[in-house]
Amino acid sequence: MNRDSMTERIYYTDPYAAEFDATVIAIEPAPAEHPDATGVVLDRTAFYPTSGGQPFDLGRLADRRIVDVVDRDDGTVLHVIEGPIETGAVHGAIDWPRRFDHMQQHTGQHVLSAAFDRLLQVRTVSFHLGSSLSTIDLGREVTAGEVARAESEANRVVWEDRVVSIRFADAQEAARLPLRKEPARGGRLRLIEVDDFDVSACGGTHVARTGAIGIIAVLSTERVRGGTRVEFVCGGRALASLRALRDAVASSSTLLSVVGAELPAAIDRLQTESRDSRRQLKDLQARLAEHEAAALADRAEPAGAAKVVLAALDGYDANGLKSLAQSIASRPGHAAVLIRATMPSPIVVARASDLTLDAGAVLRHLTATFGGKGGGRPELAQGGGVQGDPAAILSAARRLIGGA
Ligand SMILES: [Zn+2]
Repeated sequence: MNRDSMTERIYYTDPYAAEFDATVIAIEPAPAEHPDATGVVLDRTAFYPTSGGQPFDLGRLADRRIVDVVDRDDGTVLHVIEGPIETGAVHGAIDWPRRFDHMQQHTGQHVLSAAFDRLLQVRTVSFHLGSSLSTIDLGREVTAGEVARAESEANRVVWEDRVVSIRFADAQEAARLPLRKEPARGGRLRLIEVDDFDVSACGGTHVARTGAIGIIAVLSTERVRGGTRVEFVCGGRALASLRALRDAVASSSTLLSVVGAELPAAIDRLQTESRDSRRQLKDLQARLAEHEAAALADRAEPAGAAKVVLAALDGYDANGLKSLAQSIASRPGHAAVLIRATMPSPIVVARASDLTLDAGAVLRHLTATFGGKGGGRPELAQGGGVQGDPAAILSAARRLIGGA
């Protein structure tokens, strides 16, 4: 690696540099995923390239919009900008609110990971800074109580407003320091130290004092591969998430006419009421079907050896028709063929156990003529997709049963 060709990274020593001047060293084609863009290498940059779990900075270079910033193996930073650029001196301006947000989340991660490490000897195995949430993956499963202890400890360090310093060390010097994690690479290391709390090798951007993190709030945890993934927000994101929760609680409180603290009890009550209502509805439907079955059985007509109910009924689904037919067929000597008046229709054929009529055969004949499909046993058969004039279907059924 030729040190002279490497891009000087302003953010390594001055993470608060939001604007900078530089010289264009090379202009290159942009990566394939940005067809109308230009790749630019500068002698120095304050733009952070995607690395170490932290996303790249947005902003403007020579008044062109930055669409990507890439950390390359040769030590250069490639700025991908919209449109062309000329060689010479350029001015860069970072989207500062976005960068500062990343600094809050990233420094918060150092403090939270160190709190888990110091209090519970739990290692952080990976870190991801997302666009709305950040996560750390812990090396073992932790309890809700342990998470709360680490969260409290991390916020204590935030509120003590400790200095976060940057220094550089060679491998020998680093070996003598209490690094939280083995550095991933050798050579000259950049160390981030939270005063008297944590030392980590890291190339990311961090706030200068822990107070600027504001607050560290764990939102949820989930078990992943023998460890725990902890979702957290810091600073401005914690405020945004508090507002979102506040709005959700306020509208739920209005809907249920209770204060926020009474929401769980109110939801529990609603669920119980809803379960009771469903049970009552089911009971009433069963009684109604029983009543309807009795009324239909009274109008049964003789066909062969059976008294048969032939009816096209709306207001029932396939299961409702089946219950009704079974209820009619619970009467000795009775059979039923039930369809809906609206087509295509489900169809049920049922008969009492003292009859010899084959319900399955009747159903197969009817579907052969009127379409649909289905099957069943001699006592009960059902199908669906039957098409035709309801009266024609029922009179065909009467002929089949009368001839049986
Ligand atoms: Zn870091």
